[in-house]
This record gives sequence, C-alpha cells and structure tokens, in this order.
Amino acid sequence: MNPVAESSGIPDIKLVCTVCSAEHPWNVSDYRCTCSKKGLLEVRHMRVHSCAERDLMCERSPDSEGFDASGVWRFREAVLPLQASSIVSHPEGHTRLYRRETLSSWAEVDDLAFKHEGENPSGSFKDRGMTVAVSVAKALNAKIIACASTGNTSAALAAYAAQAGIPSVVFLPAGKIATGKLSQAVAYGAQCLAVRGDFDSAMQLVEESSHQLGFYLVNSLNPYRLEGQKTIIWELLAQRRWQVPDWIVVPAGNLGNTSAFGKALREALQWGWINKLPRLVSVQAAGANPFFQSFEKKFTEILPVKAETVATAIRIGQPVNYIKAVRAIGETDGLVAQVTDAEILEAKRQIDRSGLGCEPASACTLAGIKNLKNAGIIKSGDSVVAVLTGHVLKDSEVIFADAAAARAAVTEIEPTLNAVRSVTGLSGRP
Ligand SMILES: *Cc1c(COP(=O)(O)O)cnc(C)c1O
Ligand SMILES: [Zn+2]
Repeated sequence: MNPVAESSGIPDIKLVCTVCSAEHPWNVSDYRCTCSKKGLLEVRHMRVHSCAERDLMCERSPDSEGFDASGVWRFREAVLPLQASSIVSHPEGHTRLYRRETLSSWAEVDDLAFKHEGENPSGSFKDRGMTVAVSVAKALNAKIIACASTGNTSAALAAYAAQAGIPSVVFLPAGKIATGKLSQAVAYGAQCLAVRGDFDSAMQLVEESSHQLGFYLVNSLNPYRLEGQKTIIWELLAQRRWQVPDWIVVPAGNLGNTSAFGKALREALQWGWINKLPRLVSVQAAGANPFFQSFEKKFTEILPVKAETVATAIRIGQPVNYIKAVRAIGETDGLVAQVTDAEILEAKRQIDRSGLGCEPASACTLAGIKNLKNAGIIKSGDSVVAVLTGHVLKDSEVIFADAAAARAAVTEIEPTLNAVRSVTGLSGRP
C-alpha cells in the first residue's frame, strides 16, 4: 500500500463549504467560500481509508525513516496525501498518554489519562496543524505565511516557516503574550507585530492583510491545520488499541481542536476504525465563554464576548470555527463546560504537582472533569482522556504571578551550611 499521490501531486480530496456545500479545488488559498455566509471550507476525503490501511499507517513508528516518523504524516493518506517533496516535518506528534494516581483521586475518576501535547517540538499541539499548513504553503509556493495568535500558533508557525525557508509574520495582541511563546517566535525569526488590541482584533487584521497583501493564512480557519490536529485523536485511540473512551476532554478557544476532534471521530466511525463515539467535552474559561453561552442556548446563536482569563491560549471572544465545533459537539452527544480562573489555577497546581505540568489553558480539562464528576455527569467508573494542550514552561508568568507564593517557593540564602539549616529546619540527617 502506498497510495500517496507521489506522481500527480494532486491530493485525492476536495474542499467543501460548511454552509452551502459548494466544492472548491484543494489548491485555493482563500478558505472562506464565496457564498453570502462566507462559510469556512473543510477537507473532504474522496476515498475510504480501511481498517487494514489504518493498521499499516500505525506501523509507521517514531523510529521510521523520514516523515514516516511523524505522528501526523504517518496518517498522511487520511490527512493530506501531499507530494513528499512538499512535506515540512520536524517530525511531530507521538506524544505520550499518562496516568497519575494523585490526579485520578483528586478528580475522583479512576480511569483518567492525559495525552500530553506539550511534548510536541514547539511545546504545544499547534505543531500538528502547522506541519500540514506550512507544507501546503510550500506546495502552493507561498511567499509569506501569516497568523494571528495568542502565542502558541506563532511559535509553531515561526518554527515550521523557518524550516521551510519561507518568511513569516505573526500578529499578536500587544502585551498579552506569555514570554515563553513570544521568545520562540522571535528566536525562530518571525516578524512579530504587536497589535494594539485583543486577539480578536489581531485575527480580523491578519485576515484583511492576507487578502490585501497576499499572505498565506494559517490560523485554524485554514482547513489543513485541522487535518493535522485530527491525529491527536487517532493517535490516542491507537494508544488505547482503538478502545474508545467514554469521554474526551479538551480546552476550547478558537474551537479548532474541538472541530478537528469531531472530524477525526466522524471519519474514524465512517471508515470503520471504531464502532462507537466517545462524548466530546469542550471546556472554556468563564471569562472567555462564547461557546459555552451558545451551548446553554442550544446553539441557537453565538454572541461575541470581551475575553479575559488567566488562560492566555484561550483568551478568545469570537471563535472562528464555531459552525464546525457545533457539529462536533452535536454528533458526539458532547457538551460544553466552563471553569473559573480559580478552578483553572487549582487544577494546574494539581497537574504541576503530579510532575506532569502544563500551561493554564490545558488545566481547564482537569478542572472541567472535576466539576462534571461532582455534577454526576461523568461517573467515577467512566474512562476519560484529557488532552493537555501545552507545556508548563510556556507561561511561567502565571507561576510567578502570585508574588507571595513565589517568595515562599524561592528563598534566597547566603552560601553557608548554617543558612541551609535555618531555612530547612534540619540540624542533622533526618
Ligand atoms: C491554541 C490553544 C488552545 C485552544 O485551542 P483552539 O483550537 O483554539 O480551541 C488551548 N490550549 C493551548 C495550549 C493552545 O495553544
Ligand atoms: Zn458556501
């Protein structure tokens, strides 16, 4: 089996409008339809990818040669069968699934696992989408690649664009980016524009600039990003030997992951890779909760909010992928939850103290699981997988935000044994 379109270079897919169903060729670079609703386009695979094919794809391991080693590109026939020469891969993916007794007992859920997407090359799941989007940019001969970002998208774009040798421009909400993320974008050589406004205004500006100036746009309205992010789900199902958990829980900002997860599950069911669906839970921060509010109104409308939360990665008030995400929640009998900043910080403390560690947005998962367990929606015997989206080092400001706690955790001392005795309270060996 090697159905990669090596020879023609034309992937066996179409782009379809999520609103009017109009079809567009794979190689357009504007991902809004021309219809009145300007619907987002989505990839449709024209070929069924059988279970046998699934198993062959899964045999491509991290020890393989070339991009077969990538957790994304090993699924390339079902992600995007691009010509090998276009593929820009670190490689990425192959993140691990963890269990921690302390976290299971804190949430009172026995069968609780964490897929740590912070283990990707730039420290967040954004690499999985970016490897695909930047590969398409290369195939389309893009001259400049751009995105708006709360931080991690810019870090991922900067890295993959650097590898591809294509210049990148990132639009960031001025003064609102975690230092870890901004330093990556700077180090990898992106042109960084600090926009005086919030993420949502940076998003509008990058869309307009892309239209007017011809940037290739790689925010999650780019359907190829979502194709890459599907592999989070396929990989975690493969790690569970295709045993579907009862729940999959993910933090939600621009709703790219929620949408990608829904698509990954829909396709897996259609192609016979799984025989039932897990329930998908999107967790928002209470201060940035337009999707949650819409869910409460049975998705009859969505109203933008002025977003404010400690979880910078999901500080988004006007999510672009709303329509796709509604479908994901609907088809999986899923739900949308919200958690307060205090709950996020407490859950993050638990995850950090378990030794796993994650950034604040990722901790929404555990906070949400605990609340849903307390509400009797998640049962103690249910199997639950939480997706930790980013690395603990991404957002160190949050760890030091509480000055008193930081002072208590770090004690400056004279370089003497007596000073060590004094701060530890030890006089000899315990
Ligand atoms: C981007 C990001 C999110 C939000 O994902 P969406 O696809 O925008 O909903 C959550 N956590 C982290 C760490 C992120 O970087
Ligand atoms: Zn349309």
